[in-house]
Amino acid sequence: MLAGGIGMTLDEAAKEFELDCKIRHLSPKTIDNYGKQLRYKYFRCPKCRVLMRTARGGGEKEMHCPQCHTSFKVKS
Ligand SMILES: [Zn+2]
Repeated sequence: MLAGGIGMTLDEAAKEFELDCKIRHLSPKTIDNYGKQLRYKYFRCPKCRVLMRTARGGGEKEMHCPQCHTSFKVKS
């Protein structure tokens, strides 16, 4: 099992984001702003379309798909 939520579905990502907002006791307005500046950039594998994420910042990163093992670069 990989740590860091790699390979989660879009549903799971949305649930995690919602939970994250609840934990932080944010107001709806703050959540709206927060949603635009997610800590993670979500993207799909160019080959198998599995949803992945990486922490924002740090420029271009080489990603490795946990499902089809394709390596590709993303800008975070
Ligand atoms: Zn893949």
